[in-house]
Amino acid sequence: MPPTAIPPAVTILPDQIPANWLPAGKNAAVCFTIDDLHPQKSTDYYESGGDLDKGVLRHLLFLLRRHPKLRVTLFTTADWREISSKPTRKLLAAIPQLRDKFFLAPRFPKGAMQLDRHPEFVRFLKNIEQAEIALHGLYHCHKGLRIPVEFQEQSEAQFGEILAEIFRIFKSADLPWEPGICPPGWDAPDNLLAAMPAAGLRFVASARDVRTAISRDAKTNMSGLKNAALLFPQKIKIIRNGTTETLAEVLHFPTNFQATSEWARAMEIIEAGGLLSVKAHITPGMLDSVCEVYMNYLDLLFTEIERRFGETIWWTSTGEITRKTM
Ligand SMILES: [Zn+2]
Repeated sequence: MPPTAIPPAVTILPDQIPANWLPAGKNAAVCFTIDDLHPQKSTDYYESGGDLDKGVLRHLLFLLRRHPKLRVTLFTTADWREISSKPTRKLLAAIPQLRDKFFLAPRFPKGAMQLDRHPEFVRFLKNIEQAEIALHGLYHCHKGLRIPVEFQEQSEAQFGEILAEIFRIFKSADLPWEPGICPPGWDAPDNLLAAMPAAGLRFVASARDVRTAISRDAKTNMSGLKNAALLFPQKIKIIRNGTTETLAEVLHFPTNFQATSEWARAMEIIEAGGLLSVKAHITPGMLDSVCEVYMNYLDLLFTEIERRFGETIWWTSTGEITRKTM
């Protein structure tokens, strides 16, 4: 078997929370990430940022204006093709095995939402001063029942090709990106993690856990990567299966707060000296969609954090923490 065909294993080192992840004088940090950015407009199926300041992004701009120190990571999809996250071909969806071979809902044609064909959208994102861009899949679409979970059974070599295609589109769109990815649907298969170092990716945002009680040694146990630090960025060591060969270390970011989370959870994370990692989705109809109510909630929460903790808070981003610690 050639070396590339050996399935990799991923070991999470429990003691690898970078000691220096906070700057001097800071006791805790806040970062904010939004998934699913792509150029779809309200005249398509649903708006996902394509209406620019006339659409849902105006609510984000309001929040950023209210909090000049706040940073946001926009996890952006290179060529979004998902129209429905749930199967619409119900008969086919009911047949085990066969359903895994088909797309169970209609998709945008290839290229329709490709970033380099939407220069006004790209220009708008680039002009949001407090924002950075990172990766959120190539198509955000997969065969079978789990439609948004794009990364599933692919080989390490296939992930290498997928990442190369994402980079090609971002470069063609002239949209700079931070070297990290939030896998659509949060699943980060071992083969994806193994393909990251060669592609130059240095961070992954996989685990989302808004349930586990807050303590400094709490571990993620909900969506995405399990048993990662809930309150901290953490180095993940990628080891080739059956060997001691370390392919690389990448930094993992958890999500520990969303629109449905209680105010007290945020305060507990800050008081424990952790990273308050807030998630939103640009797509409508989700529990944590960017909307007036959620952005107002965050406005009040961030105002209270500033009032209570002042200069001891590091308002930062996934890209900035990665540059500091890796
Ligand atoms: Zn997504």
